[in-house]
Amino acid sequence: LSILAIESSCDETSAAVCVDGKILSNIIATQAIHAEYGGVVPELASRAHIQNIVPVVDTAIKKANISLANVNAIAFTQAPGLLGSLLVGTQFAKSIALALAKPLIAVHHMQAHVLANLIIEPAPQFPFLCLTVSGGHTQIVLAHSPLNLEVLGETIDDAAGEAFDKTAKLLGLPYPGGPLVDKYAQSGNPHAFKFAQSQVPELNFSFSGLKTSVLYFLQKQPPNFAAAHMNDLCASIQYTIITMLLHKLQLAVKQTGVKRLCIAGGVSANKGLRHAFETLGKEKGWETFIPPFEYCTDNAAMIAITAYYKYRANQFSDLSISPSARASW
Ligand code: ATP
Ligand code: MG
Ligand code: FE
Repeated sequence: LSILAIESSCDETSAAVCVDGKILSNIIATQAIHAEYGGVVPELASRAHIQNIVPVVDTAIKKANISLANVNAIAFTQAPGLLGSLLVGTQFAKSIALALAKPLIAVHHMQAHVLANLIIEPAPQFPFLCLTVSGGHTQIVLAHSPLNLEVLGETIDDAAGEAFDKTAKLLGLPYPGGPLVDKYAQSGNPHAFKFAQSQVPELNFSFSGLKTSVLYFLQKQPPNFAAAHMNDLCASIQYTIITMLLHKLQLAVKQTGVKRLCIAGGVSANKGLRHAFETLGKEKGWETFIPPFEYCTDNAAMIAITAYYKYRANQFSDLSISPSARASW
């Protein structure tokens, strides 16, 4: 069973081939153009997807050493994301499906982030809990089965990735700041500065207070303070975000009794989070799973693995399907 999958929800154009649940290729073209603007510019993202999609799909097929004619289904990210970006992948997938008379599989991007944990052996058994931390979402998900995922809690304002990117911007770092905060934090003291940790009920999160806390703190400092204390500032901000995330994850374990835990999404590439998650897991006796880096940030391999389960469950779409910027599961 071979599937070609396309991901184009934000600023990564990606294509992957999955055969019998194994990923044979996962090509990712990251759009560098947005750095100049300090964030993703939707119109530029759509244009870059149009430029990238043919070579990216072509490379994915060649690298997997298959032919398009032998693919069993075409999968694509249908929601959520930037509408113009989603449209490029959707139209491209539909065109191939129509031209080659192949079935079409629509995939939910956030479901795919969670299922990225099923790509590598040993995969977690069900049920498991997943902390999904990305550029637009922060969720605690209870996965009952591959296609039955339940959101137990989520952010009421900024996502964890936004907390990284927005505070990084305050420090004078370019977009996306998350990976840079990660880098500087490695040589910093996480207890050098103390920032606000918002308290919200149940398994929900709030990160907008952290941004304000960092802003007010920096306003009271002399010029060049951020540049002079970059490592300690990054380590302290990162520590605050990780502490808030892992606090709620522990609460989720208490509530559900589920001790099999995964992380997913772009922020799960963060070295500090990966380490703190594993350390906490050892201490608490959890079984922990972390996807390899290339399956954390946006990628088509996670779309392909999700489509693999949808194919086996006979969940296909017809050519009338359209993308959606927002969508619940
Ligand atoms: P969503 O999945 O919610 O639609 P998205 O697809 O834009 O949003 P991802 O590509 O999954 O999000 O993740 C991107 C986010 O991950 C950005 O905010 C980026 O800064 C953050 N990120 C990536 N690597 C790291 C890292 N090493 N440390 C912290 N944050 C990181
Ligand atoms: Mg991105
Ligand atoms: Fe994403």
